[in-house]
Amino acid sequence: MNSEALEESNVTTSTNSAQARGFERRAVIDLSAIRNNVKQISDVVAPAAVMAVVKADAYGHGAIPVAKAAVEGGASWLGCAHVTEALALREAGIQTPMLAWLHTEDTPFEAAVDASLDLGVSGWELERVAAAARSVQTPARIHLKIDTGLGRNGSTMDDFPDLLNRASAFQEEGLLRVVGLFSHLAVADEPERPETDEQLHVFNKAIELVEAAGFHLEVRHIANTPAILSRPDAHHDMVRLGLGLYGLSPFENESPDNFGLRPAMKLMTRIANVKKVRAGQGVSYGLNYKTEGETYLGLIPLGYADGLPRIATGAPVTVNGRSYPVRGRIAMDQCVIDLGPEISPEDYLGAEAIIFGEGGQSVNTWAHAANTINYEVVTRISPRVPRHYVEGSWGEAGE
Ligand SMILES: *Cc1c(COP(=O)(O)O)cnc(C)c1O
Repeated sequence: MNSEALEESNVTTSTNSAQARGFERRAVIDLSAIRNNVKQISDVVAPAAVMAVVKADAYGHGAIPVAKAAVEGGASWLGCAHVTEALALREAGIQTPMLAWLHTEDTPFEAAVDASLDLGVSGWELERVAAAARSVQTPARIHLKIDTGLGRNGSTMDDFPDLLNRASAFQEEGLLRVVGLFSHLAVADEPERPETDEQLHVFNKAIELVEAAGFHLEVRHIANTPAILSRPDAHHDMVRLGLGLYGLSPFENESPDNFGLRPAMKLMTRIANVKKVRAGQGVSYGLNYKTEGETYLGLIPLGYADGLPRIATGAPVTVNGRSYPVRGRIAMDQCVIDLGPEISPEDYLGAEAIIFGEGGQSVNTWAHAANTINYEVVTRISPRVPRHYVEGSWGEAGE
């Protein structure tokens, strides 16, 4: 242990000991970045509204604090995949309009209507939602979902007239109101591809059908982060902001600051061990890496149980301002970097090790090493890593 940790027993302020403990492993989340990102996007899309998409525990950033910060930053809607995710936000006291769109037979539709959640409806859910509304004696607010080409959820254009007829009957009965129409894009992160034009064209046709059927839509929405940033013609009345909320870019060749976005997550720990080894020392399971000469190895106490992708050998860890690739296999709890023969071990044992984020490399470098996308890297940081919320200043450890 380094001297700072040893001193913990005689520190004079509680902040210091909290700091020493809290650094063990942490995902530092900058809530001022979340607010900044909503503001930036609101400026881009105005007068369209911003729905902050906080599904999957806000892409790993923590749904409740992120949802609150997003609303403070100007988001007028929140979006979740599952009703259960949205109900947890309601239970935390968040009253902002909320939409959930991915349901099964087991979805608690009655609780959803009772909690004033708006519900995405692609087809079969319509009858279930109407029954729930009848049972809790509250009209449901629904957003019809049209499949404009993604091939996942959403009504096909072929089935859409029938869905509109059924919705119309329920609306006349007073069981529900169709307040929205939405769809999801397939390739908006590749702006050169033609399919987005086709999807937007189908969406416009679906809007005409809904309006011709006599519904008065409050919101039409199709744009995700890539379309927000590259397709003003997709903004309609509202945009659904996911990745950009967290300050990450959906485009291969554009960094977040090209759009005024700030990454909100920094993943960090401290080096758990430093030791001198001989040439030819094998490193981690499989012994796939052998040291070239005498060197110091640094032990990083984060592994795939914490959400580091096991495949990401070679991804950079930043220590004392320098990046070191992960050597050998990433294990469940830990991985290893080769610090070279020249270092002073006392400068490294206990030193801050940044996986990604401010002061270190970008999430994208880890995504590349893992053959995946930045969305997945942050979203999979596991519950074993404590989330630590700060305002603007990454290094500050205030509890
Ligand atoms: C996840 C999701 C979004 C957010 O997409 P980003 O690319 O992260 O902005 C928007 N709409 C739907 C339906 C989604 O499932």
